Amino acid sequence: MVFCIRKAVFTDDHECIKNIGQQIKSLGVPIELGLPFDFYNSFQAIKRWLPRLAEELRDHSVPCIAIHAPEGPVVTYQPEDFLDWAHDIGDLSNKVGARMIIFHPQRASMIDDDEALALLSSNIKSLQQETTATVVLETFSGGERFNYKCLAAARLPLCLDTSHMGHKDAVTLVEKRHDQIKHVHLSEAQGRVTHRPVGKEGKAVMKRLAELRWDGTVCIEYLDRYVKEMIEDCKWLTGIYGDI
Ligand SMILES: [Zn+2]
Repeated sequence: MVFCIRKAVFTDDHECIKNIGQQIKSLGVPIELGLPFDFYNSFQAIKRWLPRLAEELRDHSVPCIAIHAPEGPVVTYQPEDFLDWAHDIGDLSNKVGARMIIFHPQRASMIDDDEALALLSSNIKSLQQETTATVVLETFSGGERFNYKCLAAARLPLCLDTSHMGHKDAVTLVEKRHDQIKHVHLSEAQGRVTHRPVGKEGKAVMKRLAELRWDGTVCIEYLDRYVKEMIEDCKWLTGIYGDI
């Protein structure tokens, strides 16, 4: 398995992008680059600094394992409408050698609708043809988004997020669909607070994945205030499971 930590950049970050390669390099562990949450809405502004961001990461040989492009329309009637914004993410991923691209399943009124799922599937496949990274969708237990069960039934490649679903459901998904899980966002939820450092539950998920000889990529995805814990956990998890 390969481990990395979440490192987010923000929409108005063009100033700090100047030094971001050095900053990330100094963390001493590989990263998953989190693009701004409002990537789609601020796309025109962000588009201007994406090439510079890629250069920064390449110039400093930053190991970028994954790119997280959270929000944007992933269900569109024409693949071109999706590729219109997703293409740049595929391009960035190719430039920095990322192995995974992660999208959130869209908030949509047509959730659970077969047609929407078919459109989602064909859009993901279109982007997959443009990039060497694996394109995956993150698991959510419901609400306004495509439920992880729909994504799993449609055989879409998954990013298991251990904070976005109950522990029991996460374990069941690992048992039944580990072949479909390509990437993991590892953290632990406590009450309503998600993305806390792993405890008993997160460790149990890792142990089971290892027993199943699962050899994908894992992002330690804690809230920013836990950056020290992210780095430490990335190192010890690599020490335990890095050879699988
Ligand atoms: Zn996540």
